[in-house]
This record gives sequence, structure tokens and C-alpha cells, in this order.
Amino acid sequence: MVYGEPIDILLNLQAILTKYWGFSSFRPLQEDIIRSVLAGRDTLALLPTGGGKSLCYQIPAMASEGICVVVSPLIALMKDQVQALRDKGIKAVGIYHGMSRVEIDNAVDNCVYGDVKFLYLSPERLTAELIRSRLPKMNVSLLAVDEAHCISQWGYDFRPPYLRISEIRDIIPKTPVLALTATATPQVVNDIMENLQFSEPNVFQKSFERKNLAYIVFKEEDKLQRLLKICNNVKGTGIVYVRNRRKTREIADWLKMNNIDAEFFHAGLTGLERDAKQNAWMKERTRVIVSTNAFGMGIDKPNVRFVVHIDLPDSPEAYFQEAGRAGRDGYKAYAVLLYQESDLAELEQFHKRSFPPLETIKKIYNSLGNYFQLAMGSGKDQSFSFDLLGFSRHYAFDPFVVFNTLGFLEREGYIATSEALSNPSRLMFTLDNESLYRFQVANPKYNAFVKLLLRSYTGLFSEFGKINEKDIAARAGISEESAIKLLQEMHNMQVLHYQRQNKNPMITFIEERMPASSMSVSKEVYREREKFARKRMQAMTNYVRGRHGCRSLYLLSYFGETKGQRCGQCDICLERNKAGVSAYEFDQIFQLLKTYIEKNYSLELILDEADSTIPGEKIANVVRYLADSEQVIIDEDGKIHWK
Ligand code: ADP
Ligand code: MG
Repeated sequence: MVYGEPIDILLNLQAILTKYWGFSSFRPLQEDIIRSVLAGRDTLALLPTGGGKSLCYQIPAMASEGICVVVSPLIALMKDQVQALRDKGIKAVGIYHGMSRVEIDNAVDNCVYGDVKFLYLSPERLTAELIRSRLPKMNVSLLAVDEAHCISQWGYDFRPPYLRISEIRDIIPKTPVLALTATATPQVVNDIMENLQFSEPNVFQKSFERKNLAYIVFKEEDKLQRLLKICNNVKGTGIVYVRNRRKTREIADWLKMNNIDAEFFHAGLTGLERDAKQNAWMKERTRVIVSTNAFGMGIDKPNVRFVVHIDLPDSPEAYFQEAGRAGRDGYKAYAVLLYQESDLAELEQFHKRSFPPLETIKKIYNSLGNYFQLAMGSGKDQSFSFDLLGFSRHYAFDPFVVFNTLGFLEREGYIATSEALSNPSRLMFTLDNESLYRFQVANPKYNAFVKLLLRSYTGLFSEFGKINEKDIAARAGISEESAIKLLQEMHNMQVLHYQRQNKNPMITFIEERMPASSMSVSKEVYREREKFARKRMQAMTNYVRGRHGCRSLYLLSYFGETKGQRCGQCDICLERNKAGVSAYEFDQIFQLLKTYIEKNYSLELILDEADSTIPGEKIANVVRYLADSEQVIIDEDGKIHWK
């Protein structure tokens, strides 16, 4: 890394910020993080979503010579980032599955010999030999690990390929690492630093406190009516989260029927539909979006006024992320959670099905291989269209368990599902060069078309290459339909293998099919993971059940912040406020009451004995509040007991 005197750095950083991003000043902690990185220190940046983490590695990279390698788990976000940098005239490339070997080869070459500033890698690609062998030849100034919590086995979004990032550290040992995340419990923070081999602990953390966000929990039998009330009472844009796709549509329709401008969203929509709905909401042509958790990642809309959860998220991490999309602009906003008693049992059920026995996972994996007729050791980088229900019926699996197993297999890096990738059409010649030539001579009708294919795409003899029928048609001067027809005909004649772009869900094998017995997850590890997931679920249950502490304080302490003040605006604080005492008075009276309640005093007795500096009326109010919120009970004799 190259850096000069501190003052120069500062001016320099400011200049970069303004020149490329047009921003006038840094956000809290951005500058500290950037300086830490530039000083060559391994750094962990814990900033909320929307806090501006990307700049924390982009600016040091721009201030240094060489290339910045960024590991990022979500292909869609990665593509956006690469594009955004290119739009600023900065050279950036991304490598992810779905790219052909030739494409990867070219991209890597550009990083070694060209002046590429950013190389985005999906974690599965990290340890590909092609990349490992050439990383040392790149002048890597910084290794940035986005969504770094994915490295923790015990965290809520573990992705096994992340564990291999440390191997990269060994290859480029002098390069500092910057880990970035928005959610991490203290345990996960340590896990990140350990796994990434930090030379010393070094964390920059912004408080998780969201002063303008009111956390509200309603125990509610009629959730829809409550939702409607919220939409009518809170002005501005909102997000409604539900767990399944069907409900997104139903609830959006119901809201529309009640004159709320709403749309639904989920990952099963086509890319175009998603873009359209997202844009309409961003531009405030749609007021409320009802969605599965597929909505919101990478979306930065500051003036969201409410986020309502109709179903329980399975962890405080997930809840905090989703609810935290409200009120980024700093103005008052609401994070509302609606639940009924049965939801808690459902969450438990959901958890169970999310962790099917390891044997079941292996069985499903094996059945997938059979279903697609893959021999052991084959299938790498091949894609298949997949009918979840048909498959489940055929092998008598619970579709939900199959769905979760796919998620598991995807996180473990065995397969990718189409929601993470686009599936362009693909083509490979089945004939070798010479036989193809003979075919052309014998079938003049196809001659020009084949030539055009050969001119347009390279490498089609050895592996599948992506093609675009529209482009081909335009170059050939024929209609797209005719081009497709020609391709299909040659496919049927076994001249080439044509895989037309598929709109059905697709499964791509990232690794060749292996015997289920060689899958690498151990029973013990899997069981541990299940245990931690259960803990998170319980923490979530405690959050909604809680009648005692401030909601904000509860979440803060979950994320390891022990210092903090009551928010004064969550449902619990509001309820307390009704006791007509200040937060300070409440705590004071509560402390006082504790000893008396231990002794089962009655209110009268307490009032007799209590310090006369506290008005008896206020003490009575607090007692009434505690009774109303079912924290204490008052028996027939007027004695007070903890519930
Ligand atoms: P994160 O990764 O932490 O969720 P991003 O890096 O995506 O956040 O940044 C969120 C938004 O904030 C982006 O639109 C980004 O351009 C903007 N942003 C980041 N830093 C600044 C800054 N210093 N001034 C103004 N806007 C900023
Ligand atoms: Mg980010």
C-alpha cells in the first residue's frame, strides 16, 4: 500500500469521496475504518445496513495502488456493485458461477495484467485453482469480505464456502483484510476475527440503537384489520413482511380492496417484474409493498415509515435487518410485529422442518442426482429445470423439507438455484470441428448460420457457452423465432446441444455429483448449528412475549450492547409512560418495590413504609402498571406477588 503523511491521506480521501461519489463528507465511522485499513490493519466494520459499508473498502482501494478483492455472497448485489463502479469509470469485474471457463480466464487475466481496481468474487469461486494460482500475481491491496457474518457456523446466515476465505489469506499474507457486516452478536464478531486470522482484534462498531424507530408488538387475532389500521394511521411508504409467497399476493389484494395502494413481491417473479415493482415502490408510485424476505436487500430507501411483520422472523438478526429498513432518514418510523399464540408453535415447527435430519438431506441430494440422471462424478456446472412439487411427489418427500434442503445444499456450495442466477441460453457443439465441417457441406441450409455461431462465440467445442438468440438473429438478419428454430433443428440432429433460456426454477450443480456419504457435514456440527438456530428462535420468541423490558434495550443487549437507555417509544415504554412517571422515577420506584414484593407486602404497607420523597400516587401507578402488564398479581388480601 502507498500512503503519505496523515494530512495528505485525509485530503486525498476527501477528494476521492467527492470526485467519484459526489458526497461532501463521511458518515460516522467511515473515515476511521478507512484509515485503519490504509494503515494496513485487519479491520472489522460493524455498521448498520445502509450505513455505507461499501465505501469503506472502495475508498482505500482508490487511494492505493493495486487491486481490491471483494468477496460477496449475493450475485445480484455483486452485479449491481460492479455496474455502479463501471458507471463511475472505475474498472471492476465480477466472477461468479454461471460464467464459462473462458470468461473467467479473461476476467482473471485482466486483473493480473490490466488495471482493474475491483475484483468481486462469489465465495464458491474463491478457491478455484484458476484464481488461486493467479492471485499472487495480482497486486492485491485489500481483501474485503462483505456480509462477513456468513463465516460463522453459529450465525444466522452461515455459508460454508466463506470458511475458505482464510486460505486466500495464506496466499496473499501481506494484504490486510476488511470484514464488513451489519449484524453480529459478540460471539459472531469473535468468530469472524478468528476465522479471518486477524493479526489483532480491531472492531469499529456503530451502536445498534435506532433512536427514531419505535418497536411495537401486538398480540392480535385479526392481523389484517390491524395492518389496515397501521396503513391508515401512519403516513408514507411501508413494507409488510410475510413468510410465504401466496400470502404476499393475498394481502396486497386485500389492502387494495381497502384503498391502500399496495403491491406484492417475492423471489418467484421474473427479473423484469421484480424490477418494475421495486422501482414503482422506490419512486412512490406504490405505497406499500407486501413481500417475503426477498425484498429489501441492497435497497436503499431512506423514508420508509413503517415495516410490519405479519409472520415471526426466525431470529432477532433477521428481524433487526428487516425492521431496520424503516426510518433510515432519521425521522420517526415504526417497526411493528403482529403475532398470535399459534405463531409461536408454528415457528417451532418451521425450525424443525428447516433442520431435517442429516440422513434426509443426503437422501434428497441423492434423489436429485437420480432425478437428473447424473452419474457419480459428473454434473459439474450443469443446469436442470426443476419442478419442486413433481420431484417431491415422485420421491414422497415433504416439499417444504425439499425446499429447505435445497437451501442447505446451496449454502454448502453443492448446488445453486435459479433465484440466485440468471439462466441465459447455452450452446455446445456435440460434433467435433471436422464432423461439423462435413455437416455444413452436406447441409447448405445451415452453413451460413453455423459459421456465424463460430464467429460469434469461442470455445463452444469444449464446453457450454452462453448465447443470446436476439443477437444471433440480428447478425444473421433473420427473426428471433427463425434463429431459435434453426438451433432446435440442429439440436434434434445432434449437431449441437442447445439449452434454451429457462423460466422455470433451475438447479445448477456447482460440484460434481458425489455419493451422499462423502458429503462433508458432520452430524455433530449440524446438531450444534441446529442448537444455535434454536437459541435464536427462542430469543425471538422472548422478544414478542416480553412484557418487561424496553424492546430496544432487548435487541441492543442481544447484540452485545449492555449500556443504553429505555427508548420511551416502544409499546412497553409507552405502556409504562401511562403510569405517569418518568423513566428515572420508574426505575427508582421499581427498585424500591422489588424488596417489598419479595416480602409480599400489600400496597398499603408499602405506602406506609416507603421513603416519603416519592409521592404515593406514583408508587400506586407503577404497581397498577405492573399488575396490568401481568408482571405481578395482587391476591385477595391485597398482597403483591411476582407472577
Ligand atoms: P451498506 O453496505 O452498509 O448497507 P451501502 O454501502 O450500500 O451501505 O451504502 C448505502 C447508501 O449510502 C448508498 O446509496 C451510498 O451511496 C450512500 N452513502 C455511503 N456513504 C455515504 C456518504 N459518506 N455520504 C452520503 N451517502 C453515502
Ligand atoms: Mg452492503
